[in-house]
Amino acid sequence: MNPQEQSLVGNVKHAEGKYGGFSFGGQEPEGVTVCNPLPAGTVFPNGARAAILLTFDVEGNYGNGVGDVEREVANYQRICNRLSENQISATFNVVGRMAEDYGPEFVEWMVDSGCEVASHGYVHDMNKRYGGNRVYAGHYGPRENLEQIRDGIEALNKICPDVVRGARLPYGHFNEYTYEAMEQYGLAWSSLVGIDDFNNPGQGFGNDPFQMKLGDRTYPIVEIPMDSQTFDWPIWIADEKANGTFVQAVRNYCELRNIPFERTPRGAVGIWRQRMLDTIERQTVFTLCCHPINLTVKGRDWSDPVTEFIFPIIDLLGCFQREGKAWICTCNQLAQLYRQVIRTAYGNSRE
Ligand SMILES: [Zn+2]
Repeated sequence: MNPQEQSLVGNVKHAEGKYGGFSFGGQEPEGVTVCNPLPAGTVFPNGARAAILLTFDVEGNYGNGVGDVEREVANYQRICNRLSENQISATFNVVGRMAEDYGPEFVEWMVDSGCEVASHGYVHDMNKRYGGNRVYAGHYGPRENLEQIRDGIEALNKICPDVVRGARLPYGHFNEYTYEAMEQYGLAWSSLVGIDDFNNPGQGFGNDPFQMKLGDRTYPIVEIPMDSQTFDWPIWIADEKANGTFVQAVRNYCELRNIPFERTPRGAVGIWRQRMLDTIERQTVFTLCCHPINLTVKGRDWSDPVTEFIFPIIDLLGCFQREGKAWICTCNQLAQLYRQVIRTAYGNSRE
């Protein structure tokens, strides 16, 4: 089967371990309990009552991306400049092997612009290292999970010492071995589970950062839930037949908010803008997720998604930050704030 025709998630949970799985495409990982969520009413450092995070999964063609990796790498200079001009910081989750193959310059641009560089695993799809057809972290045991976390961190720390503070595992897939490895390597945050679910309402984990309990173990890692529904890919790339549930979620969101469902980079600006307005109105936290490989994909109805999509988004975020409507922060900044706030709210004993 052509990989582009393959459903992104299929019907797979964890194959190793007892807990975890996907939080994507209407699936729910097993054994997850939300602990110590960030309390409502939190005031963020710039006085805003909402926080918005812009995150990028930097993965070239190491996953299922179909764009041009050379162009993706070149685009990082433009994206980092635009972020600097707006005086805001984003989080770039970088595949370790991509940093080795195409770095170090693009990683240095990210760090130099004041952004956070975090891990998106070493190989992205784990069968590229271990053979066979098992792609996801939760399909593997302690050794492979440790290698995926350790080598992913080291590839980036080699470029910029001690830079990595967190990780988003490819496809947001995990099991308890993933968490054990992240804990062993001292990561402060993860960003794996979905905020909401427009196909199966009530299935999401909500907006607030929390600490994850898997089975009977609570991990000392701040989980920052992400937008696993209206991210860039299902808006203008995903195939409506093979990945219908993803596209349907976007359509459902648009209907719910009464905004146009237009599957182009320009249409995506309207959808993300509404997500930001929702976040500000509800005084909550929201983590946007963009895959820059998709910013290189040409279409009949658009030319350059960098200028048509991500630049307007960065400018909007800059506006909200300047107006004090939202705190635009990195994952690590939010994780640090979370620790301060829960210390007061829940006391040291529950950290
Ligand atoms: Zn990825």
